[in-house]
Amino acid sequence: MNDQLDLLNRLPLRDNLRGLAPYGAPQLDVPVLLNVNENTHGLPQEVADAIAARVKSAVAGLNRYPDREFTELREALAKYLGHGLSAGNMWAANGSNEVLQQILQAFGGPGRRLLSFPPTYSMYPLLASGTDTEYVTARRGADFGLTADQAAKAVRDTAANIVVLCSPNNPTGTALGLDVVEAVYEAGEASQAIIIVDEAYAEFAHVGTDSALTLLPGRERLIVSRTMSKAFALAGARVGYLAAAPQITDALRLVRLPYHLSAVTQATALAALDHADALLANVEEIKSQRDRIVNELTSLGLQPAPSDSNFVFFGGLKDPHKVWQGLLDAGVLIRDVGIAGHLRVTAGTEAETTAFLDRLRELL
Ligand SMILES: *Cc1c(COP(=O)(O)O)cnc(C)c1O
Repeated sequence: MNDQLDLLNRLPLRDNLRGLAPYGAPQLDVPVLLNVNENTHGLPQEVADAIAARVKSAVAGLNRYPDREFTELREALAKYLGHGLSAGNMWAANGSNEVLQQILQAFGGPGRRLLSFPPTYSMYPLLASGTDTEYVTARRGADFGLTADQAAKAVRDTAANIVVLCSPNNPTGTALGLDVVEAVYEAGEASQAIIIVDEAYAEFAHVGTDSALTLLPGRERLIVSRTMSKAFALAGARVGYLAAAPQITDALRLVRLPYHLSAVTQATALAALDHADALLANVEEIKSQRDRIVNELTSLGLQPAPSDSNFVFFGGLKDPHKVWQGLLDAGVLIRDVGIAGHLRVTAGTEAETTAFLDRLRELL
């Protein structure tokens, strides 16, 4: 391993990549995988069949490049989101990670700063580094909350060029009030900051949680990013997307690789969107398991954060690593996100959730 690292470091790597290890959560082969917030329900059979049929017809045309503008997909995404959006507001790429990367390629880069609020999604600093954008942070409160005043002050203090707000936030699970987004947008006026709201888990939010999509009209620096990886159970297909002013999507056309969304990807996403209702029915089941986890952890004397996502972040553990290992020994993989006293667990199927809760009860 060290030899390999030596060999790597002898290459003329960019300075900001020197010494880095590739990022990625462990992919272990255990029976109950609750560590990366995947949708633990497989695709319903009718949806799997519809995808297979649509992909089959796309295969006939694979000798040609796909629709570079993925117009049909942008139309379907706009229809799914509603809020008066149309194809001109939509953009998509291979996972919302690639969407975020394209935003940084267009609006970040050397001499520019991206601000975010840890603990938050661990990909933001890596995407910043990969595009030579400076990554700056401002802390959250002791309860991991973020107020409009705190956030706006950080935007002014850093004169950030890009701000990423994750809502519901990963790893803590809680959604932000829209007052925070509004305040950050206004505070970003001076530095003309692009404000990204990463709503990867929006479909799992409690009823009454407003999406930042409602704030888009009249805010041309605001971008709301979404993904089909979580609620749509399509992590393996790699489809993320965003809604924003049409001029934002025009900016992304300057940096995207031509034909970046394959015909197979477009066909898969279109078939899944045709069956959004069936997929969102599973979301309701996952939300009930999520609420069950919050209730049971509370009765075990632990401190789960309020969750609007498909996972629960919980504190009150004396030795989180020991609990994590004890669960793994029983075939249940959850996530140690490196925050003292805390762990994060994805809401599973009813049986997976039971396996997690039973083993945890024994360990405590
Ligand atoms: C899972 C997740 C995503 C989704 O990434 P994809 O590339 O679309 O799979 C984006 N943001 C956050 C905060 C996530 O947790």
